[in-house]
Amino acid sequence: MSITLTDYDPYDFANRRHIGPSPSEISDMLKVVGAASLDALIDETVPGSIRQKTPLAFGDPMTEREVLDHLRATARKNTVMVSLIGQGYHGTIMPPVIQRTILENPAWYTAYTPYQPEISQGRLEALLNFQTMVADLTGLDIANASLLDEATAAAEAMAIAERASKSKSKAFFVDHHCHPQTIDVIRTRAEPLGWEVIVGDPFSDLDAAQVFGAVFQYPGTFGHVHDFTDLIASLHAEKAIAVIAADPLSLTLLKSPGEMGADIAIGSMQRFGVPVGYGGPHAAYMAVKDAYKRSMPGRLVGVTVDARGNQAYRLALQTREQHIRREKATSNICTAQVLLAIIASMYAVFHGPEGLQAIAGRVHVRAATLAAGLKKLGFDLDTDRFFDTVSVAVGDRQAEILEAARGEGLNLRKVGDDRIGIALDEVTRRDTVEAVWRAFGGDLSFDDLLAKPVITDAMARKSDYLEHPIFHMNRAESEMTRYIRRLSDKDLALDRTMIPLGSCTMKLNATAEMLCITWPEFADIHPFAPAEQAQGYTQMIDDLSDKLCRITGYDAISMQPNSGAQGEFAGLMTVRAWHRANGQGHRHVCLIPTSAHGTNPASAQMAGMSVVAVRTRDNGDIDLDDFRAKAELHSDNLAACMITYPSTHGVFEETATEVCNITHAHGGQVYLDGANLNALVGLARPGDIGADVSHLNLHKTFCIPHGGGGPGMGPIGVKAHLTPHLPGHCVTDGKPGAVSAAPFGSASILPISWAYCLMMGGEGLTQATRIAILNANYIAARLKGAYDVLYTSSAGRVAHECILDTRPLAQSAGVTVDDVAKRLIDCGFHAPTMSWPVAGTLMIEPTESEVKAELDRFCSAMLTIREEAQAIEDGTLDRDNNPLKNAPHTIEDLVGPWDRPYDREAACFPAGAMRNAKYFAPVNRVDNVYGDRNLVCSCPPMSDYAEAAE
Ligand SMILES: *Cc1c(COP(=O)(O)O)cnc(C)c1O
Repeated sequence: MSITLTDYDPYDFANRRHIGPSPSEISDMLKVVGAASLDALIDETVPGSIRQKTPLAFGDPMTEREVLDHLRATARKNTVMVSLIGQGYHGTIMPPVIQRTILENPAWYTAYTPYQPEISQGRLEALLNFQTMVADLTGLDIANASLLDEATAAAEAMAIAERASKSKSKAFFVDHHCHPQTIDVIRTRAEPLGWEVIVGDPFSDLDAAQVFGAVFQYPGTFGHVHDFTDLIASLHAEKAIAVIAADPLSLTLLKSPGEMGADIAIGSMQRFGVPVGYGGPHAAYMAVKDAYKRSMPGRLVGVTVDARGNQAYRLALQTREQHIRREKATSNICTAQVLLAIIASMYAVFHGPEGLQAIAGRVHVRAATLAAGLKKLGFDLDTDRFFDTVSVAVGDRQAEILEAARGEGLNLRKVGDDRIGIALDEVTRRDTVEAVWRAFGGDLSFDDLLAKPVITDAMARKSDYLEHPIFHMNRAESEMTRYIRRLSDKDLALDRTMIPLGSCTMKLNATAEMLCITWPEFADIHPFAPAEQAQGYTQMIDDLSDKLCRITGYDAISMQPNSGAQGEFAGLMTVRAWHRANGQGHRHVCLIPTSAHGTNPASAQMAGMSVVAVRTRDNGDIDLDDFRAKAELHSDNLAACMITYPSTHGVFEETATEVCNITHAHGGQVYLDGANLNALVGLARPGDIGADVSHLNLHKTFCIPHGGGGPGMGPIGVKAHLTPHLPGHCVTDGKPGAVSAAPFGSASILPISWAYCLMMGGEGLTQATRIAILNANYIAARLKGAYDVLYTSSAGRVAHECILDTRPLAQSAGVTVDDVAKRLIDCGFHAPTMSWPVAGTLMIEPTESEVKAELDRFCSAMLTIREEAQAIEDGTLDRDNNPLKNAPHTIEDLVGPWDRPYDREAACFPAGAMRNAKYFAPVNRVDNVYGDRNLVCSCPPMSDYAEAAE
């Protein structure tokens, strides 16, 4: 044997992390597609007029090891201090069993939003635990399965209050003790809707007759704990709605919002085990009284039954959401914070009520002791009624004390010019408290000063919470591990199958990209820590922004929006601010094609715009005549148009440039929804096509995992003229217009996208786009004949996704798109996007990550399903009692009596299903109607589980 040195680098992207098909597979697939080469295919697919002129280049791609070294070096530029800043972000300890088995486990983090309930029972159960926990802690009836952050949750609550209140007022009152970023985001969201925001001291400034609602916070941002019962009664007397922002840990010791009479409670679940991460991601919560459940934004898990009558979970009341209600939706929220909600729920399962109370009690006693020491040192506190946070009057010693604290490794909060805030948390030790005293100039002993709780009897919590058995299980680590494993085994995620969801871009979330998110240098930086402690973050964010600018052709990026829909809102608000600055503030019309994603019209409405729908032609393109006519009609008032490119029908429309020109000619701005950027990177740039602003879903194109419905990041790119109007943030630049609680949104997941760009390089990113297009065209080619592929370019090509028409099967065989989707579960697949953008169809997006064998497995499954439909058409299979109608089949279908006119083998092992690694859905088909009629959104009693197990 001879050993020679070669250029072969086993860690090179080409040897294939992100790019699924091997070179020989690529050439085989090109033959099936009927293209002479990959270049030829791309030329036939992407119109020459929009192709970018210069290739994407940002240096050589890094190998996996190089990128990890680079990430480490960057992380080291962040300085991890003990942050006692509070202001909505607290130190916490993620139990290692949760870190390893959930946060670092692809079975959890690569899952999609549970729209297909049969393959999502595990995460739905975890989310039901979350809802139960939130409803219990807040003392309210029903909670949703997470919002983006506390500040946006407060804004969402304001919107519910405006709709639900019978008051004629258009003003909303905000407690001046809400966190500053909460107040800012409320202001941003109220302004375009014409609502007045009154910020003040609720005990002296609130006139309940003058508002449609109010939000109060406890503990307040400076630590105060108040009972708002009387104020809430006064609001109710005037038909106004009461919202409370509350820290969930404090609620284990304090009277709950529900017991004060609040209608809505919101807050952040961050301190339930989720690191601060320089601002996110973390789950926010919202709970409401039963009367407001239909107005609640976001996803709501409910209990229902399956086809056998067994208990099953599903998303409830979906008709509230934007994909149905569009500009009349209650909110634009789509991606939320599912993975973080699951982690927070498991933190509560891990600790149980007694554990949580012990943590809260310890934090409180330490805060009381801290306060006693500060008083002994001669300082005045803002209040004696606090939970974990105190504010201290320090006169002209502020700078000196903050500096001394930094010398002790502590960050304290600068409040005004003469006060300092200190928030203690789960991580605070006795010596931390002593170090704070030293910073204030005193050498005191914690044990000497150990204080008693200061929570009054009137404010003390007397009601029980977390009584459900799930919060009382034996939490030996073996049990926790197995519980979490049992749940994830019920679900299908990318670790088991491709998830060909059109528009959602379920691509690889590479391990090397994920590793760093739990490093303390990224995870443990407070979003409001002094800038010099976050230099690694600054460098990473600057470089990622620069790369995203080069990819998109924009001039600046705002990292603030923490989802695509948030990006839409932020982008439209930027456009709105630009019009106002030009004296064109009256422009309010937004043209949106009927094929647009539901978040588009919902966001436009939130930005104060009037949505004018533009027709879509039969071939899926924007109807240019209708577009031109409407632009002309609304010329004086045209603010913007929102287009998606390539279109939601999966085609590169050749008219995109024309749409931009028309819009500009009438004084409008072009918002290009960047969700489909996976078809553009390296080939074409939104900025060159003529768009002014776009959001990028980093959880689609740039490898942040979907986490079962969040986290995500939706930064926006803008052209230079819009740059001055990007969202500001009270803490970083003091400018208005914040759209998220944190200045850089969910900053701690940005290294994932950064690492992706670094490992791919410009060339690798471009190759990914080309292969994404090849993979989609390969599926379209293989399924041609069996299914009609709707919408292709003039050359007969699809972009990075394709739409299959299943409507003919409904006619010929009574087979619905639902039946096909559920039968795919039997084949071991997550269904493609269903009935969007066209009812009765499937939209398939394989992404570049999938290898040929996986694409073939999927095609076999689809072809078998077509054959089954054919058998129904031929009369060899019964029209009502067949494998499609009865899908998915569970393991229960393998045992017991069997009276179906097809056999068990066919039922459970159709093409695609793996025999040894067969995935069985844990429930048969889920009954949606039953669930909405009998709405149950918290954990059902244990007896139900026992029955289900019988
Ligand atoms: C995913 C998507 C959105 C919304 O993004 P989120 O991050 O879920 O808020 C908007 N438009 C299109 C076309 C999408 O596919």
